[in-house]
Amino acid sequence: MNWYQKYASSNICFFVDLDETLIISVSKVSYLPTAPPEIAHDFRKSIQWRKSLTPEDLDREAKSNGFELIHFEYPDGDDYRYVKAHPMADRFLAELNKISNGQVYLCTSSHELYAKKIVEHFGFAKHLRGIFHRKDINERSVPATCENFILIDDLGPTTAGIARKMQFLGKHLEQEYYSDPDEHEKAVTELFGPHFTQVERFDGKDSDSLQNALNQIRKKI
Ligand SMILES: [Mg+2]
Repeated sequence: MNWYQKYASSNICFFVDLDETLIISVSKVSYLPTAPPEIAHDFRKSIQWRKSLTPEDLDREAKSNGFELIHFEYPDGDDYRYVKAHPMADRFLAELNKISNGQVYLCTSSHELYAKKIVEHFGFAKHLRGIFHRKDINERSVPATCENFILIDDLGPTTAGIARKMQFLGKHLEQEYYSDPDEHEKAVTELFGPHFTQVERFDGKDSDSLQNALNQIRKKI
């Protein structure tokens, strides 16, 4: 029996962040490729080089780094993003799915339309039971969840972003802001500790972040 079969009946749920955890997404206008090594040390030459790039050059450069361009049709206008999935994202979600017997949810502060399109694009949907997005979190509608859950996110446990998601998942800090930072950290550790695994931010480069998160989760459960 391997480790996930052992825990498959433990009624655990996972809530997984999207941006900078499973994927990286950069707006088309702000995508700035790194200048070639021979001129990267020279600020002026680097700027000239960037100015000389055409949209086609940018697309080629992004694609050569494994980014794909995705088009989003929002009601108030279009958006284009260069996106890249963590190389282990699919396997990570599949493992969580096995451990939890299919209790894996996306939990993102991003918009619903964005989250759904990304999930569909990268084929994550087959591992997910549902998607909770910005509107859900802001309206603090508590999802039907198990007591025994773990939120996986690249943000630190004491950030406002995590406090909001935890509140959504039914873990309320007694005070939103503690005047004493040590007291704040203590309250966060006590309340969120068993329910939170922080992953290293995914920035598009090779990273063991999701493997490390899995190792931490195995210890926690
Ligand atoms: Mg994130």
